[in-house]
Amino acid sequence: MIYDSAVIGTGPAGLSAALNLKIHNKNFLWFGSKTLSEKIRKAEQILNYPGFYAASGETLQNAFMDQAEKMGLEINESMINEIVPFGDHYALMAGADFFEAKTVILATGVSVKATLKNEAEFLGRGVSYCATCDGSLYRGKKIAVLCNNARFEHEVRYLAEIAADVQYFPQYPSIGVLPENVTVRKERILGIEGAMKVSALELASGKLEIDGIFILRDSISLSSLLKGLETEDNHIRVNRRMETNLPGVYAAGDCTGRPYQYTKAAGEGNVASHSALEYLDELEKKV
Ligand SMILES: Cc1cc2nc3c(=O)[nH]c(=O)nc-3n(C[C@H](O)[C@H](O)[C@H](O)COP(=O)(O)OP(=O)(O)OC[C@H]3O[C@@H](n4cnc5c(N)ncnc54)[C@H](O)[C@@H]3O)c2cc1C
Repeated sequence: MIYDSAVIGTGPAGLSAALNLKIHNKNFLWFGSKTLSEKIRKAEQILNYPGFYAASGETLQNAFMDQAEKMGLEINESMINEIVPFGDHYALMAGADFFEAKTVILATGVSVKATLKNEAEFLGRGVSYCATCDGSLYRGKKIAVLCNNARFEHEVRYLAEIAADVQYFPQYPSIGVLPENVTVRKERILGIEGAMKVSALELASGKLEIDGIFILRDSISLSSLLKGLETEDNHIRVNRRMETNLPGVYAAGDCTGRPYQYTKAAGEGNVASHSALEYLDELEKKV
């Protein structure tokens, strides 16, 4: 089935876009986290969100979740790894799952650059962002996993079922119970080394030989997520209608640039969804 739209991101930008699509009775998918966004929950006190005087992030998060539930919005917790043009619409890949949509609204928050030394160079040659896609390549091998959110721990368990030895570099405090072949390491990874393929990690304590590394972060670098998407200073280039350079693809919130603010994100999500609605209307006229 081809959906009218896919909204990627459950922060204020994604929520605002999803609400509008729902009001307009569109058939859409909303990807992100059931707890919406860490950036909402973590705020101590919010003084600049209309209607919420000195609210904590948790208060705003609960209000957002309550509204989403009452509006009947459903969140798909799959992480979208890659989006590719597919005829006149887009295919969205989430591990082994595949979705199709006529329009895409990117509300992915501040995007991460490939931050480890040589990460971008070795992407697809021993560096992977997707356990489900590439895990089977490492059967019986020694791998490293870098992960910045406990929400992805199930992926670590999955990789531990396949690989013989998992060197785990969590970047969050409370680590769950992991299988015996997982060694938790508190060191920072300084870089990735190899020739044709990844062969080792550079650590402060020395070299760690590995066959590959999985990097599980909350967001994916824009260049890996959607090839051909125009960016500027690691932000998606948009016009006032939140249109990107790709037809039917819109962006909203922190991913389009500063200021990084809730109300800017919510406003842009609203504009992006209106632009997507107009685009869908035009598509229908062509049929
Ligand atoms: C501690 C803290 C305090 C803050 N205080 C304030 C404040 O007082 N006032 C203010 O205006 N702003 C504040 N901000 C900034 C505000 O949090 C951000 O501007 C806002 O959350 C941006 O919203 P967003 O929707 O663009 O993205 P985000 O809130 O970052 O949400 C992005 C979502 O997209 C999901 N996602 C990303 N990539 C994918 C993918 N590939 N597949 C599926 N899901 C994906 C993420 O998991 C996340 O759920 C604060 C930020 C922090 C960290």
